[in-house]
Amino acid sequence: MKISAIDTYVLKSALETPFAFSQGWVHQRCATLVKVTADNGLTGWGEAFTQGLEPPEIAAATIEHALRPHLIGADALDTSVIWHQLYHTTRDYGRKGSVVAAISAIDIALWDLAGHYYEQPIYQLLGGAHRHSVQPYATGFYRLQGKDEADRLAEEAVSHYNNGFTAMKIKLGFGVADDIAVMHKIAEALGDHQVELMVDTNHAYGYREALQLGRELELFNVRWYEEPVVPEDINGYRQLREKLDVPIAGGENEHTIYGFRSLFAAGAVDIAQPDIGSCGGITAARDIVAMAQAHGVSVNPHVWGSAVAQAASLQLLAAMPVTHHNLFPQQPLLEFDCSSHPFRNELIANPWQVTDGVVVIPSGHGLGIDIVPETIEKYRTNI
Ligand code: CA
Repeated sequence: MKISAIDTYVLKSALETPFAFSQGWVHQRCATLVKVTADNGLTGWGEAFTQGLEPPEIAAATIEHALRPHLIGADALDTSVIWHQLYHTTRDYGRKGSVVAAISAIDIALWDLAGHYYEQPIYQLLGGAHRHSVQPYATGFYRLQGKDEADRLAEEAVSHYNNGFTAMKIKLGFGVADDIAVMHKIAEALGDHQVELMVDTNHAYGYREALQLGRELELFNVRWYEEPVVPEDINGYRQLREKLDVPIAGGENEHTIYGFRSLFAAGAVDIAQPDIGSCGGITAARDIVAMAQAHGVSVNPHVWGSAVAQAASLQLLAAMPVTHHNLFPQQPLLEFDCSSHPFRNELIANPWQVTDGVVVIPSGHGLGIDIVPETIEKYRTNI
């Protein structure tokens, strides 16, 4: 089965109400999608993760100009061979960021294609499912003004709970005093409800402020404290992990086995959070999970992309062993972004549902999704 065509799509939709995380204002939702077609007519879909401030055209241009020449005519089932070839040939200008996100998109599409070829879900090709459903946690709590929004955010927490979420992640990083006020209001609003909280500052602070906030977070029994400092500050991560009882999480801005090796070797994180759409796809995520196991680190994938990235995340979640085994181990959660995303749900024929507190992992071939071509046409822009 040879690769005969690569089609790259950049989708964009302006947000009616822009929102902020600690690094800036998000004005539009974007996705870089890729369709890989084989000479027998089978197709596979992939997505390069586009974070809120990232132009989707970078990954699209990488696919079109740097990766395509290595792909046409290659054996589509050579997922590992192709991954290493793409990584090696882009090393001198890639290794991280959007270039690896582009490789991720191709890799996800090849695994989807392999699933259609072998008529199996991707998790089966990875060795089988440790779980067939996963508890989602609500990602939200973005800012509409920036500061002094604790009351509105407390209402949002109650609304996630009423929508069936018993785990939620709060965006912080708007000043330590503001962050602490938000945490108190949310805890007060949730009262006695059994809700697990995580927090994420998107590396808003340096080590000292991150430590100060972390000490306050110990009051709230949070499941994890995400991206407390910039991804380059591995020593800062390690020191926070030593000083705080709160589990430290990070990795959405880290890439490939090489990047995660540095995090694990330094003892920087309790929980690694590779994003399948930017860590290097299914191939890299599989290897990162294995490396995490060997270092006693848990994995909880990051996902903020469209339905294709969510589907890839679900397949990995199925195939991931728990790191710390016991009779009642802590299971990984699905990141379920609740912020505005005009086309995410329209992109697939059967959008994700939270039913009885879980999302069922698709068991169809490949990613187990059916792309709606009309949605692609409606939101695509020229690249
Ligand atoms: Ca995050």
